[in-house]
Amino acid sequence: MTETLLINGEWRASADGADLPVTNPANGEEIARISQATTADVGAALEAASNAFPAWAGLSARERARIMHEAMDIFRRDLDAATRALTREHGKPLNDSIKECSYSADVIDFYAEEGRRLDGTHFAGDIGPTHSFVLKQPVGVVAAITPWNFPVDLLAWKLGPGLAAGCTFVIKPPSEAPLAATLFVKAFVEAGIPPGVVNIVTGPGRTAGAELVTNPLSRKIAFTGSTATGLWIAEQAARQLKAVTLELGGSAPFVVCDDADLDIAVPEALRRAFSHTGQICISVNRIFVQRGIYDEFAARFTDAAAHLRVTADGLAEPDADMGPMINEAGLETVRQHVADAVERGAQVATGGKSPDGPQFARGFFYLPTVLTGVEREMRVMREETFGPVAPIARFDTLEEGIAMANDTPYGLAAYVYTNDLNRAFYAARHLRAGGVGINVNDVTDIRGPFGGMKQSGVGRELGQPGMDSYMEVKHVRYRYRSPRP
Ligand code: NDP
Repeated sequence: MTETLLINGEWRASADGADLPVTNPANGEEIARISQATTADVGAALEAASNAFPAWAGLSARERARIMHEAMDIFRRDLDAATRALTREHGKPLNDSIKECSYSADVIDFYAEEGRRLDGTHFAGDIGPTHSFVLKQPVGVVAAITPWNFPVDLLAWKLGPGLAAGCTFVIKPPSEAPLAATLFVKAFVEAGIPPGVVNIVTGPGRTAGAELVTNPLSRKIAFTGSTATGLWIAEQAARQLKAVTLELGGSAPFVVCDDADLDIAVPEALRRAFSHTGQICISVNRIFVQRGIYDEFAARFTDAAAHLRVTADGLAEPDADMGPMINEAGLETVRQHVADAVERGAQVATGGKSPDGPQFARGFFYLPTVLTGVEREMRVMREETFGPVAPIARFDTLEEGIAMANDTPYGLAAYVYTNDLNRAFYAARHLRAGGVGINVNDVTDIRGPFGGMKQSGVGRELGQPGMDSYMEVKHVRYRYRSPRP
């Protein structure tokens, strides 16, 4: 019996006993089964979260922090089990799983303390003898829905600030990779978090996820995933005026100016284009290189991509560069995007196919692929490929490069490499993205806001905005009288 639902502190199977397999994308092996939560199961989890809310919100931030830190001590103690589960369900090399899980624990610890540092404002009233203060209070029950590419990390980004603020949760992990995230939550249970404060419902998004979104008991939807699902969630949430944080797709440009240091730009572009097999929302999707250094950049980047190590066993080769893609659909998108580019005249500089060898025969593998001679109407330049494909185009002036970079419906992350301060500032101001990296290939830092413009989302996670989004502000105003003599 699969008991992967956590409802009011108890692990249960779904009400109707239905379950789903979890498979290793590197070899198709079934590694676990998870319960498919029914609508009634989701309702029970939301009710548990709702009942637990007043007491959790009523604890002091210090007491909530104590439980959160204790949970992360337990999670770090058992890190090995979680990281191995993550590599098996997702395919990423073990070192990437270790990095993800360790960072997730840091996020929880960080927000446990941020909760204790929350303060508000107060002021003397403008009219009459009044005084005001502003209270920040938790929004209530949060439905947290996460994708398979960073199933622990992206959960931590939600649980950390939400729990610290006093919210309670029903979590729906991704069906493709629910195991490590479940171990993460288990640590909170072991640390003694009161029953109902965190609940898990496993199962398909279109049933379990949809019920979480539409049931009136959830007051905020914290979602990371595709733009298509995010748009649907936004519509549903609007009908009940629920709060939303939506972290959606991206198509990150990587702009290399002719004064850039290629010893830095080449390996940084490589890592951000191909780590996690290109399945990161801030992965480099499109590379734009200034004409004077285009040939050198393209040659060095292609050579380095051709030498990346793809592994069919991320546990045995923890330091490999890439594992498989998550599923057949993802692999098919990559194949179609490459075929479309080649049909329209692009050249495959390296890759362009699945790797050879019996160890790759049963998984969803694709070689690191570099395309040159690309044009703006090709699908690789217009859509999110979400795979290990890096098209390189050239530009003449920085203004032109920025315009090409902005020519996308997405606006999550953008990168620019230059040693010229004026160019750096120009790019930082004009790139239409929620995060801009200048000579750095990651726009993530616990202390800074993360999120998208345009079709990449609404709201911000991490940093102070990531905490504020789990709280309502309340203006309290009172009139006072001078005591009678
Ligand atoms: P999906 O939107 O398909 O799935 C994400 C999550 O939503 C999963 O848990 C899924 O459940 C659930 N879900 C699916 N349909 C619904 C629904 N109708 N109601 C509620 N929940 C639902 O995205 P992918 O799994 O394909 O993830 C990849 C996408 O996520 C990419 O486009 C990527 O850019 C984006 N992403 C964005 C990030 C960001 O921070 N902006 C970070 C990482 C990824 P299940 O899978 O179990 O059916």
